[in-house]
Amino acid sequence: MDYLVTLGYGLWLTELFSAHPAVVAEGTMVKETGFYDRLGVKPNASAEELKKAYRKLALKYHPDKNPAEGEKFKQISQAYEVLSDKQKREVYDRGGEKAIKEGGTGGCGAFGSPMDIFDMFFGGGGRMHRERGKNIVNQLTVSLEDLYNGATKKLILQRNVICDRCEGRGGRKGALETCPSCCGSGLQVRLHQLGLGIVQQISTICSSCQGQGQRISHKDKCKACGARKILRQKKILEVHVDKGMKDGQKIVFHGEGDQEPGLEAGDIIIVLDQKAHPVYTREGENLVMAMELQLVEALCGFKKPVCTLDSRTLLLTSHPGELIRPGDRKCVLNEGMPLYRRPFEKGRLIVLFSVVFPPENFLPANKLKELECTLRGKEEPDDSKNMDDDLYICANLEDCVPPRTRQRFRDLDEDLHYGGGVQCQTS
Ligand SMILES: [Zn+2]
Ligand SMILES: [Zn+2]
Repeated sequence: MDYLVTLGYGLWLTELFSAHPAVVAEGTMVKETGFYDRLGVKPNASAEELKKAYRKLALKYHPDKNPAEGEKFKQISQAYEVLSDKQKREVYDRGGEKAIKEGGTGGCGAFGSPMDIFDMFFGGGGRMHRERGKNIVNQLTVSLEDLYNGATKKLILQRNVICDRCEGRGGRKGALETCPSCCGSGLQVRLHQLGLGIVQQISTICSSCQGQGQRISHKDKCKACGARKILRQKKILEVHVDKGMKDGQKIVFHGEGDQEPGLEAGDIIIVLDQKAHPVYTREGENLVMAMELQLVEALCGFKKPVCTLDSRTLLLTSHPGELIRPGDRKCVLNEGMPLYRRPFEKGRLIVLFSVVFPPENFLPANKLKELECTLRGKEEPDDSKNMDDDLYICANLEDCVPPRTRQRFRDLDEDLHYGGGVQCQTS
């Protein structure tokens, strides 16, 4: 299928782009960059960039997936905790990590728990209502095509389920008995003689029932779960990625997370992670692509085929007589991303142009003269002929070259300073 598409005439998108708030003052000065480095972002990163960086790293280093990287997980969380808070970020930018630890925020300078930050970020229950099983957070990599067309993905997860053999009791019915070691208190009390008749009483959690106060005798333990009451189970999850969903969006499966006896099950939270696309970049509901034009195309017009994310071919066609300058942006209406939950509405396809010049000496001198006449217009006088040689000093334009190869220029400098009092310092 071919579609002939005419570029939106005169629809200049400079306003649209200059209105973006993500612009941070250039050359942001910060005392140190450690927290930014932990998240792998620049000190002028926008809130959105920080979120994305935290999201990726937190999922990667979460103790559930990477038990050996607890310290790294903590570091990432602390950095995000500070940088995601406008006030704390300012304190950090001005005074560095020291200022944060000294509590320059006016409140307590201590960091929150990495798990709480994680739970808060991914919309989990957090510590506030731990009467639910744990949430399982998992990243799902998707392509821009998946987000454009929608897709169904299968994901295999591990989760805790209540043992069905013993129905979460850990043993056969009625097998639960009061722990003989602690008599059901869950605590073991030791008396410690300090001398002179003073006795210290030390309570510790009962080791034979782990503080439960009850236990199951060895012979009655459930063979399936070994009295742990829960089992690890593989779960195949079918995830529907809807048209128009975006990078970082969460898909929640309520009650599909970890089960624990006596608690409501947690959720499975799937976080979409979009791979970069070789042609298109997404900006909200718009798609942005770069297009290179030859000089002749920029001046005389062009037709260019472009493959869409659903494999149609658009033929981008310039208006007769119109010319494209380097850096121009044009757009095609309704060829951007479909809107989430309104997939029949689409954003725009924005084309960002660059212009390639022909190679040097691409025309013989006589042809070049013809081109010149065409470009200047016949009647225009040739200024260079009328220039009075006595009034002008001829100055050649040279290539700007890196300092290492500047010797030639130095020699030139010395030539220019002939006879004058000024000497060029050569060292
Ligand atoms: Zn069991
Ligand atoms: Zn006990």
